[in-house]
Amino acid sequence: MKKILIPIITFVTFAGYGQRLKISNERLSENWKALKSFGFNEETQGNERIAFSDFNLAAINMIDQKLTALGMRVNRDAAGNLIATRKGANNQLPPIAFGSHIDCVPNGGHYDGQVGVLGAIEVIETLVENNFQTNHPLELIIFSNEESGVFGSRALAGALTNESLEVMTPSGFTNAQGAERLGGNANKILSIARKPGSLHAFLELHIEQGGILEEKQLDIGIVQGIVGLRWWDVTVEGTSNHGGTTPMNKRQDALLAAAKFIQLVNSVVTSVPGRQVGTVGRIKAYPGAPNVIPGKVVLSLELRDLSEAKIDQLFAEIKTKTDSLATDSQVKFSFSPISATGKAALTDERIQAVIQNEAENLNFSYQYMPSGAGHDAQEMSHIAPTGMIFIPSKAGISHAPEEYSTFKDMGQGTQLLLNTILSLDQLKEY
Ligand SMILES: [Zn+2]
Repeated sequence: MKKILIPIITFVTFAGYGQRLKISNERLSENWKALKSFGFNEETQGNERIAFSDFNLAAINMIDQKLTALGMRVNRDAAGNLIATRKGANNQLPPIAFGSHIDCVPNGGHYDGQVGVLGAIEVIETLVENNFQTNHPLELIIFSNEESGVFGSRALAGALTNESLEVMTPSGFTNAQGAERLGGNANKILSIARKPGSLHAFLELHIEQGGILEEKQLDIGIVQGIVGLRWWDVTVEGTSNHGGTTPMNKRQDALLAAAKFIQLVNSVVTSVPGRQVGTVGRIKAYPGAPNVIPGKVVLSLELRDLSEAKIDQLFAEIKTKTDSLATDSQVKFSFSPISATGKAALTDERIQAVIQNEAENLNFSYQYMPSGAGHDAQEMSHIAPTGMIFIPSKAGISHAPEEYSTFKDMGQGTQLLLNTILSLDQLKEY
């Protein structure tokens, strides 16, 4: 790990630099309760603050007022992102940005995204309370519509097309309409893209959604990147025939071959070390009658990993093994790629090292890990050196009312976010 030596030596000088600024767990939990009331579903105990809904608008307005009262200059950009800025001692320096999202899936939970926004607000509260000014200007960002297409962060990363503006969202509004509801301007969304290098860093605090930290009783996950994903439609062609009269040794059963294929995917993906995952999540057999041997099956294949090369390698292996399966089963397999978003996005190794150093200063246990889910940080990593901090989430449940992280974990993640910002603030270049 030679490349992290220089930052660590630099940080030894500043070790404990942020330690005297303590976030308030009590204030953080009060703010969590306040935010929870916007879209709280009494019946399911879940959250209906879906992107662009009235609940979303009301919550953003509440936070807007809060940040304004904390002395920030609060704007909505054309995509409906809330961007709050706080001056630094040297405003020629590029800003340090941090944030997450407050929208959720229908009947979602109260932590996904929200922990990152509440942590970001608490960072500002703590700086204001201590009358502490950073060198770099700070930008707190609440991204619009994360849950159905990382819309706001894609706009900032310059990754949107005209078509994406017209995509209908679960709120019943298109992205363009929704952005305007949040105070944006549909005509200017494509022009808000930030230039690569215009931010000193971007940081996101988030719940893990995976259950590994909880199981290993670790405080913090240092995210190495957001895994890339690829999808294929896999078509299996055999021969349809009478289920009663065709002897077992005379069949070209596409569904039986598909079942063996699903096994094969699992065994290839688990045959090499690493955190790669492979899933067959959809299957359809034709003609689909109890008394007819299925002549055709269409199923999906999804592969995810931090390394695109590894996805290629796994897919090649799956194809090779499928060739012999096809011969043995006397069926034909064909693969056609489905366009799915998701090139792997790596976080910045120097920022990973800063997070690690600050976690050690705080005596937090940690491990490095990929993120299997998409995040705003994934888009921001294309325009800014990016870091991401995970805190444990109970049983890895997310996108459901049962989503849960403790106030202690939220507080620890927030303290680490603050200390990481203050460490990065000490670096002119890194
Ligand atoms: Zn999220």
